[in-house]
Amino acid sequence: MEAEYDSLSVEFTIACDWFTRNGGSDNFSWPELNGYWAGGNEGTHNPWGYITSGIPGMLETLRATALADTFLNINLLPLSSGYRCPVGNTNVGSSAPTRSRHMAGRAIDISTRQLWESLSESEWRARYNALRDLASLVGFDYEGLTFDTYGDHHLHISIE
Ligand SMILES: [Zn+2]
Repeated sequence: MEAEYDSLSVEFTIACDWFTRNGGSDNFSWPELNGYWAGGNEGTHNPWGYITSGIPGMLETLRATALADTFLNINLLPLSSGYRCPVGNTNVGSSAPTRSRHMAGRAIDISTRQLWESLSESEWRARYNALRDLASLVGFDYEGLTFDTYGDHHLHISIE
C-alpha cells in the first residue's frame, strides 16, 4: 500500500499497519465505509481499508440528527464513498487525485441523489444545503464544495 501511495504521488503518508479488515458502527458497515464505489479497490485490497477513528461516531451523530429533521424527511443516510485507495481514487476520476481526503480515510460521500432525486432541483438543493449545515455542526468540513460541484450532487464531507 505504501508503494501505491508513492507511485501515484499522493500527498499523505500512510502506514501499512493503519489498515484494517473491519470497522464501522451500528448503522454504517465496514463495506459501506470502505467499498461502496465503482471501479475501486475491491479486487486488490478489499476488505482492507482505513477510516480515521473519529469518522464513524461523527456519522452516527449526523445520521441521528438528519433522521430527526422533518425538513430533510429521510429514513437513512446513504453513503456512496468512503475510503479510497490511490488507484480507486484515480478510477473514480477524483478532482483531487493526489490530495483527496478519501485516500487518507478522512472523507465520506453521501448520495443525495438516492434521497431527493425525485424532487425539483431547487428542493433537492435546499435539502443538500440543510444536510451540509448539519454536517458542519457535527464538525465535518465540506471543503468549499457545493451542490453544483458534482453532476450527481453528492455531498462530500471530511475532517482535516
Ligand atoms: Zn468525496
